[in-house]
Amino acid sequence: MSFESFFNPKSVAIVGASSQKGKVGYEILSNMISAGYGGKLYPVNNKADEIEGLKCYPDLESIGSVPELVILVIPAKIVPMIMQQCAKLGTKSVIIITAGFKEVGKEGKALEEKVVQIAREAGIRIIGPNCLGIIDTANKLNACFGGDLPDVGGIAYLSQSGALLAAILDIATANKIGFSKLISIGNKADIGELDLIKALANDDETKVIAGYLESITDGDEFVRQAEKISHIKPILLIKSGSTAAGATAASSHTGSLAGSEVAYETAFERAGIIRCESIKQQFDYAQAFSNQPLPKDARVAVITNAGGPGIMAADAIESKGLKFAKLDEKTIEKLGSTLPAAANIHNPIDVLGDSMADRYSFALSTALDDPNVDVVLILLTPQAMTDAKGTAEAIVKISKEKPAKPVLTCFLGANKIAEGVEILRNGKIPQYDSTDGAVATIKVMTEYVRWKSRPKRVVKLFPVNRRKVENIIERHIRQGIREVGETESKEILEAYGFFTPKGSIATTADQAGNIAEQLGFPVVMKIWSPDILHKSDVGGVKVGLKSVQEVKDAFDLMMYRIPKKQPDAHILGVLVQEMCKSGKEVILGMNRDPHFGPLMMFGMGGIMVEVLKDVSFHLAPLTSDEAKQMLIDTKTYKILKGVRGQQGVDIDKIAEGLQRLSQLVTEFPQILEMDINPFVVGPVGSTPIAVDARMSLEV
Ligand code: ADP
Ligand code: MG
Repeated sequence: MSFESFFNPKSVAIVGASSQKGKVGYEILSNMISAGYGGKLYPVNNKADEIEGLKCYPDLESIGSVPELVILVIPAKIVPMIMQQCAKLGTKSVIIITAGFKEVGKEGKALEEKVVQIAREAGIRIIGPNCLGIIDTANKLNACFGGDLPDVGGIAYLSQSGALLAAILDIATANKIGFSKLISIGNKADIGELDLIKALANDDETKVIAGYLESITDGDEFVRQAEKISHIKPILLIKSGSTAAGATAASSHTGSLAGSEVAYETAFERAGIIRCESIKQQFDYAQAFSNQPLPKDARVAVITNAGGPGIMAADAIESKGLKFAKLDEKTIEKLGSTLPAAANIHNPIDVLGDSMADRYSFALSTALDDPNVDVVLILLTPQAMTDAKGTAEAIVKISKEKPAKPVLTCFLGANKIAEGVEILRNGKIPQYDSTDGAVATIKVMTEYVRWKSRPKRVVKLFPVNRRKVENIIERHIRQGIREVGETESKEILEAYGFFTPKGSIATTADQAGNIAEQLGFPVVMKIWSPDILHKSDVGGVKVGLKSVQEVKDAFDLMMYRIPKKQPDAHILGVLVQEMCKSGKEVILGMNRDPHFGPLMMFGMGGIMVEVLKDVSFHLAPLTSDEAKQMLIDTKTYKILKGVRGQQGVDIDKIAEGLQRLSQLVTEFPQILEMDINPFVVGPVGSTPIAVDARMSLEV
């Protein structure tokens, strides 16, 4: 949709405009006037003839023309009535500032639904209710009661918290942060974060989309769209609060380990969204993204007038996995021929404590010319001879002359650097009050560049027997059976190309002995009951049974002990199974997140998964690279590759297993949770076995 009539309306009516200072209806009108809005402004209030020198109208109709945008600052209960008037008049864009809707409970929710219904029928789009309003700096539109119009800049900010937006406006004014637009989205009754992010993606004034969100509506679609938009411009989000829906009681390992927090984390990663922990961090990042070019790679050159901060920066660069640029011979020569003999002409370039603006200027210009340098970070401490102001001016000048590479500064101090900092801010040079803040920003910039240039995601599709799975799942759903037992889980897995151990169910000790003989020793025995989810917990798994006698004894023991431990369990018998050759046990799992869909899990398997918690997550469908990355993201990976003389296992087969499972859960949305635990893998070339599996369906 186009937001033109919200952000650039030819006329605006404020229903509920007031002449009383301090009232929202006054603040918005006065903000509109003082921002210098160039269109027609109509205050509507039946108790006043004139407000702030503008003619006031008793109602919308008496304006005599159709206002392009209507802002409502009236009691909640009369909002539906005024919406009807908007509908009759033909206004298509409404901002509802008024609170007292969904956020106050059932009655408010009903009222909000009524308002939305009127809007839908009339083709009206709504921002709000329960919001602060919107700002567009280029169009001098301050339809908001959060503060004065900020400077023009490249950051668009959308916030689900109105109060936070007011704080941001205050910070922005103090730090000269420029914005293209600010939007308080309130209750998101109609227009939500995704509509706005999509619009901002095509907004030329916006270089960076930043926001604060408490919830994301339609997570699936959000991820898909955000992934596309992140290629156009960076999205920086603060996401607070976990969703209650994500915290459903889980019966699988994966379900109990994957919270909604993990889902957000992986969803953001997939979409290339840069997640921020605080407002400070968000603006640290945003000022660099909006004012500087992106670095080609991660090689950082540091220029400093003091050793200490130089070392701090070097430590931060190292610990963040960035590279310390190795300066070109020519650069070193040039620096050596001009800087004093005591200066360090290698990275970090130390221009010495008595450096004035000229040395900084020369060092910066030289470093920017070096082909081995992708980013320059300038550190300054206010020593006796330091000229913070002159240095700041020089940095702004050089960076404008050589705009291809990003330049960031970290002027450390307070009063003595204040003037310099102001010059840097005005000159669009991102300035940080700590080396960590600056280096963290360089890090996210390089990560974003890497994300953008990653190969196109290609999800491999394996030939599978989909029909078979469909039959099993449909039968369960028809009969209202939520848990798919081990046998049928394995049939499903086999249909998707997994291998499982051979075996059959025995209902008597003799039968168990016969099956074991046919399979060949050693065998494994497992209690067979739809009511027992984790068999080992009740002593229901015996491995390494080597004779008919051992098998018979194990059968009798299980049948005697387990009903005592779990009297309500319906026991169907004992599964006698071939024993896998030794290998490493890993877990492949999936938990369907209510917002983002199937969330895949990989980790160290066996009966200790929940204790060790060495797991990683990724949203399905998985590409081969993503599946491999999931392995690399765990500590188990090192063990799997082989440590201390131990032979490694077939890593690619595990990645393939994850991809096959990802295909299964993508093709069958009825599967809510599932685990293959253990998935036993051996050396390269061997076939991994899905030893134990379980899944729950949505019935
Ligand atoms: P549960 O998870 O319900 O306790 P499993 O079938 O996963 O039951 O068995 C528990 C453990 O027993 C596995 O993690 C594995 O170490 C071992 N195990 C089970 N079946 C086999 C088998 N067929 N071959 C080798 N080891 C097995
Ligand atoms: Mg198991």
